[in-house]
Amino acid sequence: MMSSKYNADEKGNYGRFGGAWIPEMLQPNIDNLKKNYLKIINTDKFQKEYIQLLKDYVGRPSPLYYAKRLSEKYNTHVYLKREDLNHTGAHKINNTLGQILLAKEMGKERIIAETGAGQHGVATATACALMGLKCVVYMGALDVVRQAPNVARMKMLGAEVIAAESGNKTLKDATNEALRDWICNPEDTFYIIGSVVGPHPYPDMVARFQSVISKEIKEQLKEKTGSEYPDYVVACVGGGSNASGSFYHFLDDEQVKLVAVEASGLGVDSGETAATIALGDVGIIHGSKTFLMQDGDGQIIEPYSISAGLDYPGIGPQHAHLKDTDRAIFLDATDQEALDFAMEVTRLEGIIPAMESAHAFVALKKLKLKKEDCVVITLSGRGDKDMSTYMERFKL
Ligand SMILES: *Cc1c(COP(=O)(O)O)cnc(C)c1O
Repeated sequence: MMSSKYNADEKGNYGRFGGAWIPEMLQPNIDNLKKNYLKIINTDKFQKEYIQLLKDYVGRPSPLYYAKRLSEKYNTHVYLKREDLNHTGAHKINNTLGQILLAKEMGKERIIAETGAGQHGVATATACALMGLKCVVYMGALDVVRQAPNVARMKMLGAEVIAAESGNKTLKDATNEALRDWICNPEDTFYIIGSVVGPHPYPDMVARFQSVISKEIKEQLKEKTGSEYPDYVVACVGGGSNASGSFYHFLDDEQVKLVAVEASGLGVDSGETAATIALGDVGIIHGSKTFLMQDGDGQIIEPYSISAGLDYPGIGPQHAHLKDTDRAIFLDATDQEALDFAMEVTRLEGIIPAMESAHAFVALKKLKLKKEDCVVITLSGRGDKDMSTYMERFKL
């Protein structure tokens, strides 16, 4: 795989961000992973098995679809990278399959994961069912109640779901419980993190597993237009994994503008927001130095977004670096803007997007696009899971 000044160095630093800021008790686990991950994922055996699974199990390559009516409406050329058509309905499976193969190669028999809305939990439980590995998913007790359908999916897939009863009983607390578990079970347990967050080597590892998105965009765009370089690549960002994967093979192609759209909830200045880049300052969250939303005392501010997948108070360290270096453009979209686009994309293209993905489309309104521009938008997931939100907000 290629290296870029926008990727992690050996210590996992992206400029002034990243690294592994972890308690001493976690050091052996992280060292073990760091020592093994590149060695294993670069073997022919690993690549063969991973690529086969992406093809036959996930259904890759996902189509690159020319959105004709959306293009007409915005007077430009819009292509959608259809991660919503993957098995389990989003990009997360690209990562969980990669990590589970790695876990198997490292001789681990037990998988743990944290989940907020339950999407990463479902993707992990799916991979565990496929491989016959034991799966424990930590989830905030409040989220267990709010996300009952995903809890049922995980249970049906054979996972044990443990409710985290500490703190606000949400994602942050689930993550703390998962880390505690990992410290107590270093021998047999592998911790699958769901985005490009956490201590090194997770952000780099997850970006590599998601980089299949931009690899395919290049090939498919070349076939459709004769050029592998779009003018813009656009993705929504929570932790930032679908964005990292969409940007990966374009990082050094500076003529390609990279656009990340974060969720500003009720508005950047409303106090009810997840616009980390717009508001955040530098701090440490979940073992990584990055931008995060914190108050004057360095306490993490609870994020808010209508989409559970974008509801994270930090952002992957690579994105912080892309902001620092001006390599990427960061936009934000409110709940209402995303809802408007969710309906518009549905009515113009017959595709109901995930609430998260709808945020990415807001870029069509905010960028100054030209008629001849080629814009690739990553449609990170399908909207089935968001139907109750859509029913309520659209009075369906
Ligand atoms: C989880 C999720 C996201 C946000 O995660 P990233 O790591 O930022 O990609 C976006 N879209 C969908 C559909 C998701 O499930």
